[in-house]
Amino acid sequence: MENPWRRELIKALIGAPLLPFLPVNAFAGHKRPKVQIELPPFPIQDTYLKGEKKGGRILIVGGIHGNEPGAYKAAEILRHVKVKRGELFIAPRMNFVSILANRRGYNGDMNRKFAHLSPKDPDYERVKWLKNYVKEVKPALLLTLHDGFGFHSVNPRAWGQCIVIDEERYRNFSLGKEARLVSKRVNRFFKKREWRVPVYNTHTFSPKTKHPEQRKSLTYFCLKEANVPAICLETSKQMPNLELKVKTHLLLLKEFFALHSVEIEPGFDYIISHLKEFLKPNISYSVNLNINGRSVLVSSNRTFKLPKNSRVEFTSFHGTAGTNAVSPDVNMNFRKIGIKRRIAFDVKDDFRKIFTVRFVVV
Ligand SMILES: [Zn+2]
Repeated sequence: MENPWRRELIKALIGAPLLPFLPVNAFAGHKRPKVQIELPPFPIQDTYLKGEKKGGRILIVGGIHGNEPGAYKAAEILRHVKVKRGELFIAPRMNFVSILANRRGYNGDMNRKFAHLSPKDPDYERVKWLKNYVKEVKPALLLTLHDGFGFHSVNPRAWGQCIVIDEERYRNFSLGKEARLVSKRVNRFFKKREWRVPVYNTHTFSPKTKHPEQRKSLTYFCLKEANVPAICLETSKQMPNLELKVKTHLLLLKEFFALHSVEIEPGFDYIISHLKEFLKPNISYSVNLNINGRSVLVSSNRTFKLPKNSRVEFTSFHGTAGTNAVSPDVNMNFRKIGIKRRIAFDVKDDFRKIFTVRFVVV
């Protein structure tokens, strides 16, 4: 027997406009959208800090995976310190669109894109930028930060809470020796067995490696193509809170900095004991919009009714370096969007939503 409710549902679904908006790129040769909205490209952020005293040269990469806030927040904190000795290079949010989407890889896993990548890939420009940056900076050590799954000390297949090296030794780099020294020093702070941070050797260069996929990773690229020693630091997604994830990263970074004669002010101990303030700065958020030539500052939820043919531009974001806007209604890679009816943009501080700006075409 036919179900009239089902028939109504199908009718409603077919009759419903599936896409009230389309990316502007899709309009070439078609009718123009009623309203066009433009956002600035996602910035590639990097910071260079140099101390007065001579020391080592470290490059820190955060946010290759977007759902790993312990990693990119730790990197971000270090952008705000003073370097007393040595040199520090920081690229905190390599995968900004994935951070805002709070997804591992909005465009697929970025850490599998360092061997070959199509220029058509949405991450292409950012990956290319990082590869050039590594070769230009030529640090004495690159540390890439992640929040892995589980706890390696109790589950050797888990990637959480460990220091990952591709080989014990590679060329003249003693990766294993350095990583074990850091591991030993940091583990004094972790009484819980599962929170301990052992060394995980993936033997990526060995023909018998269990992790051939790591040959597409950033650390493998650094070692093989850029002759730069690179180590991956992992806290765990299962640590009870963000503070403990960031703390794990900072404890590890502290020891690597000591080994490479890089000194910062305030020191790591001060930062760790004031982490709450570093993670939740007392800050107000806003965005500047230009709507048909008129400048508007928005700092809370707001809906704009727009006449046809309106032009809207997000001109600037105010808050932290993680403040930006994305729309859950469209492909988040698009920064020029044509809409016919309505769209919402979430203004976010990294993964955290602050407020929503809605546009309705009238
Ligand atoms: Zn990761």
